[in-house]
Amino acid sequence: MTDVRKTQGVAPLMTMNAYENALRQFDEAVRVMGLTENQVAMIREPRKIIELKLTVRMDDGSIQVFQAFRVQHSLMRGPAKGGVRFHQDVTRDEVKALAFWMTIKCAVVDIPFGGGKGGIVVDPSKLSLGELEALSRRYFAELGTDVGPEQDIPAPDVNTNPQIMAWFMDTYSMHQRRHAPGVVTGKPLELGGSEGRTQATAQGMVYTLEEAIRHLGMEQDGTTIAIQGFGNAGSNAALLLSEKGMKIVAISDVTGAYRNDTGIDVGTAVEWTKANGGRLIGFHESGAAEPMEDPMALLELDVDVLIPAALENQITARNANNVKAKIIAECANGPVTPEADEILNGKGVFIIPDILCNAGGVTVSYFEWVQNRAAYYWTEERVLEELDRIMRKSFQDVLAASLKYDVPMRVAAFVVAMERVTKTAELRGLYA
Ligand code: NAD
Repeated sequence: MTDVRKTQGVAPLMTMNAYENALRQFDEAVRVMGLTENQVAMIREPRKIIELKLTVRMDDGSIQVFQAFRVQHSLMRGPAKGGVRFHQDVTRDEVKALAFWMTIKCAVVDIPFGGGKGGIVVDPSKLSLGELEALSRRYFAELGTDVGPEQDIPAPDVNTNPQIMAWFMDTYSMHQRRHAPGVVTGKPLELGGSEGRTQATAQGMVYTLEEAIRHLGMEQDGTTIAIQGFGNAGSNAALLLSEKGMKIVAISDVTGAYRNDTGIDVGTAVEWTKANGGRLIGFHESGAAEPMEDPMALLELDVDVLIPAALENQITARNANNVKAKIIAECANGPVTPEADEILNGKGVFIIPDILCNAGGVTVSYFEWVQNRAAYYWTEERVLEELDRIMRKSFQDVLAASLKYDVPMRVAAFVVAMERVTKTAELRGLYA
């Protein structure tokens, strides 16, 4: 069994209150759309915030108590959908913000889900595998019937992975006394996971980037690209884009940054990380690139496209003015702060916002749920075909709103999403 403690190394560095950021973005879209107070009241606040104290017996016999959350921001368009994060810095507000963004993201790509998110305050690297399983199962057992294929469908997020989804699914199925794979997505293939899920986020980003390049009248062949983060999203992005003839001139991870202006051989970089515990550390020794003294300088390179695929709040008021890329494709969630957003918009940088750009992940999660319900499994080819259609259409929907209201793509994505959520709210009306 894989050691699930050695999973994703992303720390949520929310230097600002993420929920306030989400509300600022929402309020800007409300202003553009001219929504009424009643319409806003129907969709602004989360529907349900569950706060739990999880008691877990540790290997040494002691009992430890872990704080945990599940936020269901909206159930208007379908069951809540969103990942569960295991991290020592998880806060209630962070989970509320991430749940809010899931409502928006699912509506942008027009899949029949609301938004949700979960989190446990824990540093999973400090737990044994057995303790991690006990904690995961306790969380899902406590959530009880608040989760379910028709209620709320969690998925992996920072520091959670397919093995943890398997424990979630098993715990729920035991309680329900039935096989219920549709309660979570991001499961191992053997338990009803979907083909194509691993590269889905990067693949979705590639479709939106191709649309952006076309819209801006740029040449795709030889486009230069810098990528921050070389985990699931970043490394798959590098592989897919280099296969398309684009030139990856810089890559980085938490251990350092590397550049090669003639283009990095991405296959060599992926092999390097496989041999080095998933990290790029010492990659220059392969001869495929030079080390960069200041890894943050990657964000300021003179490239056509910048792809943040690591952390929140990387492009801030401090470095936004130095960004030279024409396009920023946000693979990561929240890599650009609201202040930096303003600066970049002023400079005419075309941003493909996270809620559109990285929505390929949740879209293939939707396909996984559909396949679980039908108990019929698609080929990878079919998954990619459907993803291609949804991502390109979503990009065009957002672009059309951006042109119609004369607003940046991020505000436009909120507008598209909120038009859909508001319409559903009107049609459903209020029960009692
Ligand atoms: P991951 O853990 O697989 O990879 C994260 C990468 O970021 C690692 O290479 C890590 O070393 C690097 N990193 C961490 N700190 C860094 C730093 N200071 N400078 C440079 N690199 C640093 O995570 P992932 O799944 O690839 O997710 C990356 C981002 O994409 C996150 O913001 C996540 O929320 C977002 N995202 C991922 C998915 C998905 O399906 N994987 C879906 C939607 C959004």
